[in-house]
Amino acid sequence: AARAQPGQHIAVHDASAAPDLSSAFRLHNDLHRAVDRQELAAFFQPQVLAQGGAVKGFEALMRWRHPTLGLVSPAKFIPIAEENGQIVGMGAWMLQQACQQAVAWQALRPAGAAPLRVAVNLSLRQFGDPQLFRHVEAALENSGLPAEQLELEITEGTAMLDLHHTLELLRRFKGMGLKLAIDDFGTGYSSLAYLKRFPLDVLKIDQSFVRQICTDRDDQVIAQAIISLAHSLGLSVIAEGVETQAQHTLLQDMGCEEIQGYLHGKPMPGADVAGWLSGHAAG
Ligand code: C2E
Ligand code: MG
Ligand code: MG
Ligand code: MG
Repeated sequence: AARAQPGQHIAVHDASAAPDLSSAFRLHNDLHRAVDRQELAAFFQPQVLAQGGAVKGFEALMRWRHPTLGLVSPAKFIPIAEENGQIVGMGAWMLQQACQQAVAWQALRPAGAAPLRVAVNLSLRQFGDPQLFRHVEAALENSGLPAEQLELEITEGTAMLDLHHTLELLRRFKGMGLKLAIDDFGTGYSSLAYLKRFPLDVLKIDQSFVRQICTDRDDQVIAQAIISLAHSLGLSVIAEGVETQAQHTLLQDMGCEEIQGYLHGKPMPGADVAGWLSGHAAG
């Protein structure tokens, strides 16, 4: 059972809840040292053109190599980092990693190949942090990555929390030349009027609509509606979680521009990207 530390109040409802509770505490405590101990890693997942499959860019996804628990999923540690504020420092680190990597890949591309983009997720707390703009500027400056090659992903929840702040920040980023995407689109709530006012480039269809898209008529209708909406607003669409050729083909036929998912590549360590690219057509 969990033991209470002085000053902490712990409610254990039944014995089966205890192991979970203590592992949550463990992650919470260990995360404080993860950055200094260089246990965080940036993985990258390819995003390819639906038509023809040329690679357009990569999404940066954070991993934590815990010394004894192994690879911890961001679904487990991002919420902890979000709650204790560490996400701000971790996110700044991620921005640096992603920009540096993108510059390194570019050097390996054949002459004349289109520049590769790198997409970085921003959490709610990061988006609200006054240092964010400076962190983004620093990552671009230190790496030399052109702003046009960095895409920032925020969710609807983040975008809608403080409309004035969002509009102002997105306009500043846009003014620098960055690309802006709404992640997990369709799973949050967003006002269509604001979608129009935000200077966005991309809507990402959440994988919950993609998983059963070949058999579930409702998912098909929703995906098609998102694609039509995006195109009417002048935005392009990336589908997430595409695992089969049938899903790819269906989304391509619906007009979805880009595909991301295990079908084309799982998230991989930065060191593996060069090898993956060498086996892939330049766009
Ligand atoms: P997300 O931004 O929506 O990222 C897409 C997630 O879908 C990733 O999970 C990716 O590995 C997974 N995925 C991609 N293709 C497939 C597929 O074909 N099948 C299946 N089953 N899954 C697929 P991951 O890497 O576990 O990340 C989960 C979430 O954690 C991300 O969702 C994002 O919200 C958050 N996250 C990850 N890295 C960062 C980060 O650096 N900063 C912040 N703030 N959040 C992050
Ligand atoms: Mg994302
Ligand atoms: Mg997503
Ligand atoms: Mg997600």
